Amino acid sequence: METQMLIGSKFETGSEAGEPVLNPKTGAVIMDLPEASEAQIDTAVAAAEKAFLGWSRTTPAQRAGYLLKIADRIEAEAEEFARLEALNCGKPINAVLNDEIPAIVDCYRFFAGAVRAMPGQVAGEYLPGHTSMIRRDPIGVVASIAPWNYPLMMMAWKLAPAIGGGNTVVFKPSEQTPLTALKLARIFAEILPEGVVNVVLGRGETVGSPLINHPKVNMISITGDVATGKKVLQAAARSVKRTHLELGGKAPVIVFDDADLEAVVNGLRAFGYYNAGQDCTAACRIYAGKKIYDKLVADLTSAVSTIRYNLEDDTQNEIGPLISKRQRDRVSSFVERAAELKHIEVTTGGKPGEGPGFFYQPTVVAGALQQDEIVRREVFGPVVSVTRFSDVDEAVAWANDSDYGLASSVWTKDVSRAMSTAARLQYGCTWINTHFMLTNEMPHGGLKQSGYGKDMSLYALEDYTAVRHIMVAHG
Ligand code: NAD
Repeated sequence: METQMLIGSKFETGSEAGEPVLNPKTGAVIMDLPEASEAQIDTAVAAAEKAFLGWSRTTPAQRAGYLLKIADRIEAEAEEFARLEALNCGKPINAVLNDEIPAIVDCYRFFAGAVRAMPGQVAGEYLPGHTSMIRRDPIGVVASIAPWNYPLMMMAWKLAPAIGGGNTVVFKPSEQTPLTALKLARIFAEILPEGVVNVVLGRGETVGSPLINHPKVNMISITGDVATGKKVLQAAARSVKRTHLELGGKAPVIVFDDADLEAVVNGLRAFGYYNAGQDCTAACRIYAGKKIYDKLVADLTSAVSTIRYNLEDDTQNEIGPLISKRQRDRVSSFVERAAELKHIEVTTGGKPGEGPGFFYQPTVVAGALQQDEIVRREVFGPVVSVTRFSDVDEAVAWANDSDYGLASSVWTKDVSRAMSTAARLQYGCTWINTHFMLTNEMPHGGLKQSGYGKDMSLYALEDYTAVRHIMVAHG
């Protein structure tokens, strides 16, 4: 297992105190990893700044070549990456191997193609005697900070468009899930020119904060909590850095009376609980029409009670534990407070799992009302609430009545109702008769306090490049 950070071309151990990295399935310490010092952060930023001079002058085809090599290596070492990610996050190995790794490999491949085919305005004589043209140029050194729920995938979403666009990066994984980033750092050192990607380790306050406040950092890209996003904005304000924020979510799911109930239940069982609900797009806030509500709650309850977790044979597990005891306690306290309300019924789950790991039972909270905490706040665990609505206006108003604006879905057999409802939702994405499906060609990102900036797609490449106007006066 790799333990060292990548700074320029050197592998270094952090010179500050160690931070324990845990196995969430057992609670055992995998290893202690020392944090980067301020001097090491400085050196990493300086390496990225120096590398920018050469890297920003490479052609799109050259950068595409590097991205394709990275994709090939991840693909070739998929099993080892999956094993590490499963160990560090507690994810079922098959979920990482079959769902995440192919999407990660495809992300690098997508940006290899996309960077060679960026669209834009045509050059022309918009003033007589002058030719104008648009360039899209890299921004500089990007401080890139990832969360713990999909460590290697968030790294791909951030790094592929950033380096594809000609920027250089200092990347900080979550202090809880650094293992796959350290393995990938070894591959970067073999493939990329020195300093194009640097990887530093440590907590948000001690390493993330000095990194985002660093005067030589030109852009900050973060996926994390809303509170962390606000700190990034404060840091960015001091030197007017560009920011790219992917923050939390609380996805509403509107189920009309005419929806295909079996498809809804199968969808919610899969997309409400995937990754133990530690997903900012999780289908966690259900609004059900008054005719379908009772049957939906009954069928969902029995479907969710069959979700397999914490089985000795990991290939049989559908979900894993939560990332930490802290996160499990947080989820548990949300459900306990909800269960105290008279109108709420916890129809399945509602308790921590057995054993030493950080498991929580897949849970359905029925009878929830719009003002309830369980409907309004991001739980980030295997917990889905169900609320009854009486008409489309009420459903749309409640769905939009949220601080978040990342993902949503609408379930109905009526295409015109689906389209008119989707048009009224204030979310970065609305799925119709599905939820959670992502593809590298399409953007992922939020509105409101879910942040702004798009991951994946050509829009991400736009976010990581600056529009410039070049004008030539004719002689
Ligand atoms: P977090 O905000 O605690 O941590 C995210 C990262 O930010 C970590 O690497 C952390 O070390 C770093 N960080 C924390 N404080 C910092 C500071 N002051 N300065 C610089 N860096 C700092 O979030 P988390 O608990 O790791 O992740 C869960 C959250 O992420 C959830 O709220 C979830 O919704 C959100 N999330 C959003 C998306 C999205 O695409 N919108 C995707 C995944 C996760």
